[in-house]
Order: sequence, then structure tokens, then C-alpha cells
Amino acid sequence: MRMPGWRALAGRLAVAMCAGLPGQAALAAPQLDLTVRLEPAQGSLSAHALIALPANEAIDLRIDARHRITSMQLDGGALRASTDGGLQLIRIAAASQPRRLELRWAIRADAPDAAASHRDTLTAFAPQIGEAGSFLPAGGAWYPLPFDSAGPLLHRYRLTVDLPAAQRALAPGDRQPDTVRDGRRTVRFDMAQDSEGADLMAGPWVEAERSVRSIDGRTLTLATLFHPDIADQAEGYLDAAASHLARIEQTLGAYPYSRFSIASSPTPTGFGMAGLTYLGIDVLRLPFIRHTSLPHEILHNWWGNGVHLALAGGNWSEGLTTFMADYALREASQGEEGARAMRLDWLRGLSALSPAAQGSLAGFAGRTHDASQSIGYHKAALVFLMLRDTLGAPAFDRGLRDFWQAHRHRRAGWPDLRAAFERASGRDLERHFALWVDGSGLAAPAIAGAVAGPDGLTVTLQQPAPHYPLDVPLHVRIAGQTRVEQVALPGAQARVSLPLAAGCAELALDPDFRLARRLAPGEAPPVLREATLDDTLGLTVLPGDEHLAAAARTLTTQWLDRAPTAIDAAQPPGRASRLVIGSFAAIDGWLARHRLPARDRDGEVVAWALRAPAGGTLALVTARDADALARATSALPHYGQQGWVTLAGGRATARGQWPAATKWTKVCLP
Ligand SMILES: [Zn+2]
Repeated sequence: MRMPGWRALAGRLAVAMCAGLPGQAALAAPQLDLTVRLEPAQGSLSAHALIALPANEAIDLRIDARHRITSMQLDGGALRASTDGGLQLIRIAAASQPRRLELRWAIRADAPDAAASHRDTLTAFAPQIGEAGSFLPAGGAWYPLPFDSAGPLLHRYRLTVDLPAAQRALAPGDRQPDTVRDGRRTVRFDMAQDSEGADLMAGPWVEAERSVRSIDGRTLTLATLFHPDIADQAEGYLDAAASHLARIEQTLGAYPYSRFSIASSPTPTGFGMAGLTYLGIDVLRLPFIRHTSLPHEILHNWWGNGVHLALAGGNWSEGLTTFMADYALREASQGEEGARAMRLDWLRGLSALSPAAQGSLAGFAGRTHDASQSIGYHKAALVFLMLRDTLGAPAFDRGLRDFWQAHRHRRAGWPDLRAAFERASGRDLERHFALWVDGSGLAAPAIAGAVAGPDGLTVTLQQPAPHYPLDVPLHVRIAGQTRVEQVALPGAQARVSLPLAAGCAELALDPDFRLARRLAPGEAPPVLREATLDDTLGLTVLPGDEHLAAAARTLTTQWLDRAPTAIDAAQPPGRASRLVIGSFAAIDGWLARHRLPARDRDGEVVAWALRAPAGGTLALVTARDADALARATSALPHYGQQGWVTLAGGRATARGQWPAATKWTKVCLP
């Protein structure tokens, strides 16, 4: 999930951004006093702004060109905006005195489209106004956003919203008590910190609140603003928010705002802004969201919405948030086994990227597609994991707390993180950051040789260029006992000597997937989409049941992007991927005929991935009858990341991954 803000706007504007001064706040931030009247039923908003501009700074204000400016004055004198692409530009030259800009404008917007996909909502920043919900992200420039020559400016504001009493409004900032009069409600938000801007939301919400105490003794308000049909979920969300917030404060320090609100959206959004998160109604209904998306969005109040992103050099906040929320919670709830499965999942996705798709962390701005998510969230999380493994948890945690204290409510980038970790550990991390953050791609360490002799065991590790500074976990199994040696591999090759008194030792390199490395072919257990996404996929529909064969053809048309080549059932599986569909009897017979492992799961429909001895990945689908397969047709494509899934009545009843098989290298004393 991501935050809307200047990043999207900057992309749209193609602003020429210089490096800026990471970590340094603007000398003086503009102050905006915004007053808006929102009419959800009419799809309109009228607004007034008083903007105090600091002396001696040239500032541009940018507002979406679709919004009609009805009046504008600078210190009482008339002023005109110019149009540049999709924006209106208001240029204010540097002056020796502070200046005051006043303007009025009007916005007309469509109601939110409940049929929008999640992907649409990630990139759409046009305002939406309707009775079911209104959303005006700051990044859509619904009000004049201040910029200087380096890019968008953090700013403070006061936002007063007047709307029908049946609706409630939400924006980042301290909320003053509502007043209700003559069927209208007035709500005010004061943002006293430098912020990315005023994202305005409204809806026919039912509100619930709870007070909790922050670690520094302040009273914090937790609130839910939910549509009536999910209002019964409020208590559960408030409980979860209180516990996640307390847990994060223990690690990082006090929550930086006075409130945290969870608001429901009629579209399937997932946004986190300062002091709030805005999630789709259907998203909030999912029982796991309070343990996954919610803690992720709460943690963004430290990373991304507490320390803001530097204007250039990459978005570090998603990786750090994924590491400290998603990953840490998986570890807490499912132990090392669950955490290992998550790391393997990340490496599988990263290893599948083509060299051209391997972008750098410094080049990651935000999630726009699956490849960017793999890099910006998963690779970045692994980079933090490797750093913690290398520095040790105490120094790593000290570094993060130091980074938080030094950059709270300012912009900061990867170099600031590096500096904080260097201060905390006393180590030079230049190469670590240069290769992992500025460079692209993955490490590929391997055991190059292992020799047993009278002095013990000598193991040689190597890696191709570029030479990542790696601390390689080498698992050594002797007489049934496994121990882990951390072997420093700073360059192309490293040699380590280990005691071996008698017999044999077995070696495995990083079998727990703690390094951001390219998986060896066959190292990850197969998943369905490894076959179904393969351009060279073949298709075998086993003969025997004509109705089932027809249902199989419908399934393949819906599941696959392209028509696969038909392959005769008699042809043994080779190096190419193949999708094989048939009745239970037909598929069981086919597996036996080709000496493949037998099916070990039952259900109305069973699908699983299997690696053929020659290396090709097989996706196998079997069903009780044609009707059962037809019912599973729309659900099956959603389970591509699974090793196996069973379905009944068109819904998954069980699913999972196959265990990863560790490759051990055996070496014996002569
Ligand atoms: Zn996020």
C-alpha cells in the first residue's frame, strides 16, 4: 500500500528535481489557511485559501487546471495563473517582505467509482466527490500546492471543512471538536508539523473513538470512521490499532501525532497518510487486514509520514515498513518457519525478474506494478534484514531510533539511513549501500569447493561481480548436528577453515534464504504460476471425458494470456512447462505412466505444481467432473502463487507451498 502525495504529482509534472538537501527542512514553510464547503450530493466543492508566503523565497503554487479559480490576489493586488500541462501555475517571486496570497476556486468532481480496481486507485489522483465518499488527495493538487526550485515543499495548514451534518470529514492534523448547526457540520484540522499536505476525505461515516496513552504520556485518540454496514467492526479495529501502536512505540519511540484514524472508502483503496489510513470497505471486511495492512499503515506514521521521503534517491519507506511490520508480524505469529516462507516468497519473485526489470532501490519511487513491488518492498526488506544480521539487532535498532530522532518531520533519504547505521555501529557501510541501494540485481554466492584434510575442512565461497559485501550463513552438518557459520565474503572469493575430526560434513549455503540472492534453478519449490506465466507453456488435456475437456478449454482461456501449444499425452514431460488437465483417473494414470510422484491430495478440484525430472514445471489440474471444474474456473487463477490448492464449490478449501528442499554438498575425510 502506498501514500498519495507529491511523488505522483511530481511524476505527472516531470519536475526537474535536483538532489536537494536531504534531512534539511525548508528554511521557512508556507502556511495555508484553507476553508472549504463540500457538497457531496452535487459533486462540488468551493474553497478559499489564505496563504502566508515567507520572505526571500521564490515559490510556485500549483493547482489542477480543471479547477476554476474565481478570484486571486497577492497582497490585495490582482494576479493571474498560467497554465502548464494539466496544472495552473501561480508564480510568486522572492520579496523582502512576507506576502499574502488569497484565492477562491471551485471544484466539480465525479462520485467515486465502486467498480474501480485497486490498480486504478493507485494511480488516480483526480478528486472524487459523492455521497458514498469523497477523496481529494493532496497529490492531485486540489488546492494550491507550494513548490520551490527543488520540488514540492512540506507545509503546515489549517483546514476548515463545512459539509452536510450527516457526513463526517477527515484530514491529517489535530482535529478540533465538530460544530453542527442548521444541518451543516464544521470540522477543523490543524497541521502544526511540516507535512506533505492536506488529503481530504469525507463520507457518511459512523464514528467510534478510544483514548490510549502514548509511551511519552500523552493521550492519543484512536478513531474509526466506517460506513454503517461495517460499523460493527470498529471495536476489533480499535483493539488492533492500540496493540500495534504500543508495539511500535516500544521499538521506535512515541507516536508522532495526536490521533490515528481508520476510515472506510467506497473504492478498494489502501492509503496511509499522516495520522490516518483510508482503506476500502471490502478490504476492511477481510479478517486479516487488521493484522497485515493496518500495522503496515500505522508504521508509515514513522516511516514515510513521520520522516518524509527525500525528493530524490528512492523511496526507502516501503522496504523498512515491510520489514518492521509485515515481516516482523509474520515472525511473531508464525515463528521462523513463517518468516522463512516469506523470505523464500520474496526471493522467488525477485529471481523471476529479467535483468532489465531489476531496478535499483535508489530508483524506486513507488509501487506501480509487480516488479516494482518486488524491488521496492521485498528486496529493500531483505537489505534491512541483511543489515540487521551483519550489525546485530542492538546496533540496528539504535540506528533506526537515531534516524527517527534526527529526521522526524523532515525529508530524509537512503544516505541519511546509512549515516545513522554507521553512527550506531561504528562501521563504514559505503559499499553495502552503494551495491544494494544504488546498484540493481541480486547476489549469487555459491560453494565453489570443499576439501577435507588433516587440518579439517576448507570451504571456498565465491560470487560473480559485482561483489556484494556478504555475510554468508553457511550451514555445516556433522554427525547429525547442524551449526551456522557466518562467513564474510567481501569480494570474489573467501576461504574458511572448519574443524572436522572424522567422517563427513554436509554444507548448505543460506538454506534459510537470508540473503538477497538469485535462487538456483530448482531451489525454490514449484508454484502454479511458474508454469502458467511461462511463454513456452504447453497444454495436455487428457482424453476420456468430453465434458471435462470442454470445461478445461474454458479454464485455459480464462487463466492464460495466450493459447498454449497442444501436447500429446503420450509425450513425457521435459524441460518445458506444461499444464495438464484431466479427471482423477486420467491424471493418476498419466502420472504413473511418466513415473512422476502420485497425487496426494483430494477434493472436488485439485491443482498442484510439480517439477519434472528434466526440470520443466508442471501445473496439474484434476476435477471430479466437468461441473466441478467449471465452478473452479474463476477462482483458480488467483492461486498462482501456491504450490497446491484444493477447491470445492468454486472456492479454495485448502492451499499451501511445497517445502523447499535444501541442496547439501557432502565432503568426507579421505
Ligand atoms: Zn506501504
